Order: sequence, then C-alpha cells, then structure tokens
Amino acid sequence: MRLSDTRIVGELAALGVELKPCVALSGLTSLGIGGTTDLLRITRHDDIAAILDLLDERGIPHRFLGGGSNLLIGDGELPWIVLQLAKPDPDVVLEGNRAHVDAAADLGRTVTFCAKHDLGGMEGLIGVPGTVGGALRMNAGAYGTQIGSYVEEVKIYRAARRTIEILRGTQISFEYRHTSFAPDDMMLAVTLNLPSKPYTEIIQGIRICNEKRRASQPMGQKSAGCIFKNPPGASAGRMIDELGLKGLRVGDASVSERHANFFVNAGRASARDMLTLIADVRERVEKAYGVKLENEVVVWSA
Ligand SMILES: Cc1cc2nc3c(=O)[nH]c(=O)nc-3n(C[C@H](O)[C@H](O)[C@H](O)COP(=O)(O)OP(=O)(O)OC[C@H]3O[C@@H](n4cnc5c(N)ncnc54)[C@H](O)[C@@H]3O)c2cc1C
Repeated sequence: MRLSDTRIVGELAALGVELKPCVALSGLTSLGIGGTTDLLRITRHDDIAAILDLLDERGIPHRFLGGGSNLLIGDGELPWIVLQLAKPDPDVVLEGNRAHVDAAADLGRTVTFCAKHDLGGMEGLIGVPGTVGGALRMNAGAYGTQIGSYVEEVKIYRAARRTIEILRGTQISFEYRHTSFAPDDMMLAVTLNLPSKPYTEIIQGIRICNEKRRASQPMGQKSAGCIFKNPPGASAGRMIDELGLKGLRVGDASVSERHANFFVNAGRASARDMLTLIADVRERVEKAYGVKLENEVVVWSA
C-alpha cells in the first residue's frame, strides 16, 4: 500500500513520523518472506494517538511490526501499511534492580546489558530474537524463563481508549505464549524487576542456554522459531518428528531437519509455500493424534 496523498505524508512528518516507501518486508522478517508496503517509523510515543487518529480518519489500515521474528507475511503488494517504533538512545535505563526498557529495544541485547550490571533472571531468553515489545506481546519464553515473570509495569498505547496507560504487572495475565493485552494494544515500554546476580553466574547460565539452542535448533537458517504452540502436555515438534515429517517440503519452505517445529525458508520460499506446508503438517498431526495445532507464528495475510 502506498501513501500517495502528499497532505497525509506532510501531516505525518509533522508528527515526527519517518516514511519509508515501498519496503520489502522479506528484508525485515527472520523468515525472509513478505511483500512490499510503506513503513512508518514512529519517533515519539506521545504522538501515537494523533498518528493513529489520522490513519483511521483516512481509512488507512495498518499493522504493527516489532523485530519481525515471529511473523509470516503475505506475498506481493500488501493492503496495509506497517508501523514500527524507532529505537531511542539509550533504550535501557537501570535504577537499582529495575530496568526501564523501551519496547523497540532488542531483547537479547537487553539481557546482556542487564547481565553486565549484575541483573539476571532472563538468561533463558538470550537466543530469542526480536524486540522487547514483541516478547511482551506473546510472553516470549524459553528454558523455563518467560519475560512476564519480571514485568513490574508496562506502558501501553490502548487503542480502544486512545490513551497511553501504565499497567502493573499484576494486572496482566502472562501465560504460555499468550497475554491478556487487547489485540490492538501497543507496547511502548516496560519496567522489569530483575534479581541481583553476579555477572559470571549469569554468563554461565547464558552459555548453557546457547549450547542447548545450538544443539537442537537450525542455526543460520531463515525461520520464525516454533511454528506451532505446544498443546497442553505435549510437544508439537515431537509429534511432527514421530510422523517422519522432518524435511517435508513445499517449494523452498521445509520442515527443519534439526527441529521439527521450526519451518525454514531454504531459498526463495513464498508465503503461499509456507502456508501450504503449515496446513499440510497441521492436517497430518490432527489425523494421527486428534490434536489441532495452533499457530505460534503470527500470520499477516496479503
Ligand atoms: C531462531 C528463532 C528462535 C526463536 N525462539 C523463541 C523462543 O525460544 N521462545 C519464544 O517465545 N519465541 C521464540 N522465537 C519467536 C520470536 O523471536 C518471539 O516471539 C519474539 O518475541 C517476537 O518479537 P518481535 O519483536 O520479533 O515481534 P514481531 O515478529 O515483529 O511481531 C510478532 C507479533 O507481536 C506484535 N508486536 C510486536 N511488537 C509489538 C509492540 N511493541 N506492541 C504490540 N504488539 C507488538 C506484532 O504486531 C505481531 O503480532 C524465535 C524466533 C526465531 C527466529
């Protein structure tokens, strides 16, 4: 979608928005899949309400992009524009055991920055790509750690009320890859309360998690992490593996040989290839186990 009306472009610029025209989203997603559209980079939280009012008044549909590591985006010219928060400098500020983190901050860098200041707890999240905002949205987690456990408060833009609000961690439910945020809530910043731990101990924990990832996941291949959520008490990857589906391919989209719940773009896979593969695997698992796997990856259709 192109923002061709110069008046809108001018009004957005006055609100501190940086317009990046005709962006190939395949370059902004870890799967390397996605069509083209205009991207608006938002520099000031306080202008978000005015920006969204403007887009809504003009009937311009939009989606909100973090680091693009949990997204499968449709092919071709996309019928909506994409909004993204610009990263402020600094994006993490420490105050005792509290880390005030902007939603656009990189999650991995946040974990290591806090570690260098003897603040731990989040070692398990080290290999999770993407932004802190994206991690909050889905309650990212790994190796027994989930980001929600450390949330003291979150600053969100609540689209339903058109206001910026601060929610206490206790007001939010953080479950397995699910939170109680409304679908159109926008994470802006978070305060994490982290336990004190010596840097050397944190680094040791980080090394162990990195080794586990290296041993089980396809490194250096384009993926969005796990495609499906694990059903209660079961492992989606194990079921797919037991059915002998590792290596199953549709075009350049394939089930990883390394980790059956990671689907990789082995070349020039299209969204259609990946969606066909996902549907095929879901159907086979349902037939064999009577379990309908739910997507963990977020799909933005064209
Ligand atoms: C190699 C690899 C390994 C992975 N391992 C793990 C893992 O161990 N555990 C795990 O949980 N995940 C894992 N993931 C998935 C992914 O990294 C996480 O879900 C991550 O938290 C997504 O963050 P993001 O910023 O990239 O979000 P995006 O992919 O950009 O967006 C995902 C969703 O969050 C929304 N969103 C993003 N930012 C915001 C915001 N500020 N406000 C509101 N909504 C927002 C988007 O609109 C979209 O709906 C892995 C991915 C890869 C590629």
